[in-house]
Formats: sequence, C-alpha cells, structure tokens
Amino acid sequence: MATTSFNKKTLGMESAEPAVTPPQVPPNTTFVKKPKPPSRKSRKRDIPEGLWTKCPKCGSMVFDKELDENLKVCSHCQHHFPIGARERINSLVETCTFEEMDAGMTSVYVLSFTGVASYTSKLEDYQKSTGLKDAVLTGICKIGEHRAALGVMDFAFLGGSMGSVVGEKLTRLIEKATEKALPLIIISTSGGARMYEGMFSLMQMAKTCAALAYHVKARLPYLSVLTHPTTAGVMASYASVGDLIIAEPGAMIGFAGPRVIKDTTQAELPPGFQTAEFLLDKGLIDAIVPRKEMKPRLIEYLNYLSNGRT
Ligand SMILES: [Zn+2]
Repeated sequence: MATTSFNKKTLGMESAEPAVTPPQVPPNTTFVKKPKPPSRKSRKRDIPEGLWTKCPKCGSMVFDKELDENLKVCSHCQHHFPIGARERINSLVETCTFEEMDAGMTSVYVLSFTGVASYTSKLEDYQKSTGLKDAVLTGICKIGEHRAALGVMDFAFLGGSMGSVVGEKLTRLIEKATEKALPLIIISTSGGARMYEGMFSLMQMAKTCAALAYHVKARLPYLSVLTHPTTAGVMASYASVGDLIIAEPGAMIGFAGPRVIKDTTQAELPPGFQTAEFLLDKGLIDAIVPRKEMKPRLIEYLNYLSNGRT
C-alpha cells in the first residue's frame, strides 16, 4: 500500500509547475548553429552539396565556411586546397587597390579542327563556371607600401593552361611593370601549355621570358610564387626564372609527370619527388611559405629587394 501511495505522489510531482522559472531568452539573441559533421554511415548518401569538404590529406570533414575563412587551408593538417584567383588577390592586396588590366581579353579558336569538341564552347563553359575570361588575372595593385604588378593564375579555368590569352596578359603585365619601374609578382598554377591552341600556346613561353629579360635588365625584382600544381610549359618558362622562387607547402612542381620521367630514365624516383619540400632541399626553391603568411612575407621580400624604393 505504501508503495502505491509513493508512486501516486511521484506522478503528482511530475505534473506540478517547476519550482524555478527558466530564464527568459532575449528576443534578439540568435545562435549560429554549426551543422553536425555527417556520420560515417550517411557520408556517401547524405552530404549536402557545398557544406562540407573532405580533406584529401587527413580525411577530416572540413566545414566549408571555416575553410573559406582559413583561405582554403585545412585547419587539421594545413593541407592547401586550390584557391580562386580573385580570392587570392583579395588575400594579398590592400583593399580596393587592384586595377585589373585587359579584363575582357578572350581566346579565339585559331586551329579550327573539325571533328573535335569545339574549343569555343569549352571556353564559354569555363567562363560561366569560374566567372573568369581566361586562366589568369593581371593588374597593378598595392601590397603593403609597395605598388606592384600582380598576375594570378586560376587552376579552375581549364587546368590553368597557358594559351595565347594567358601569355599575352602576362607579357603586357611584365611590360607595364618595366615601363612603370614596378616589382613583379606572378602566382602560378598550371597544367601547362593549352594544346587547343597548338603552337600559339607554346610561343607564349618564349614571349613571356623575353619580356622578363627586359624587366630584369631594368634591375627590377620579380617574385615567382608556385602553387599546387605548377607544371610543364609554365614551369619551363616564367614560373622558374624569378629572382626569388617561393612555393606553397606540399605543392607539386615539375615539368613532365613522374610516370613519364620514370619511363624515360628507367630509374626509381626518390621519395617526395616533385614536391615543394624536395625542391627546396635541392635548391630550386628559395622558401616555402604557408598561404596565411604569404602577404607579410611578400612585403618583407619587396622591402629587401626594392632597397627602400616604394
Ligand atoms: Zn586536412
């Protein structure tokens, strides 16, 4: 009997008003709720587009907003994801100081081969998906106290390939830098020359380097920044002839791919071959600079190389 009455009492207490009034939430308080990372089971099916990205190096699921705030660098392992040309420019230059050059320049299909997918429609697709006219943005800007000529490539536009537009825009940038006595910075990422334009794309290697020869003759500094990946025709021309060659951590840098080199030389390739770290050790690269430190480091190098000129 006693047990029964105890149960009744407990039930009665549950329905009673709580002794303590819960604190009132101010009406304007908003909570930004970070979505939970997808569970292992549901990863394949339920990952919403554009919310989480899997880091290819450490396998962590990285919240896209955090990735954007961190300049597309994984906060767990410091893996450097590709970053768009405009985002990179924003991370380097003083606010609203980038004066773009040749913004409307676009390629034409000079070879006009028949029976292959139209190069022109491919270009239009990439222009829509990236918001760029071609694989490089060039302009004059201010970095710290320095006015500088800046060219930034974007791998998302046809693998950062160098066609006649990339070559011409960079050549005009270099010539402008020489004319105005400005230091030059080119940030490269490229799969090489754009074969849709045949010989015209290969000619850009000589053209850009000829312009650089006049820039160096005027005793002006050129900083070449290599990001993942910088290969083939771009690496074999302007990217590898900087007064200082800087790379981002883990960037793949080389001319031909490792398989081609292995087949040609019939030799085992050393571990870490064609990484920025390996090339720093061998003396091709002068410094490896993480993306977040790139701006202050560039300013430091410009201070040193321009010897007080701003
Ligand atoms: Zn990672």
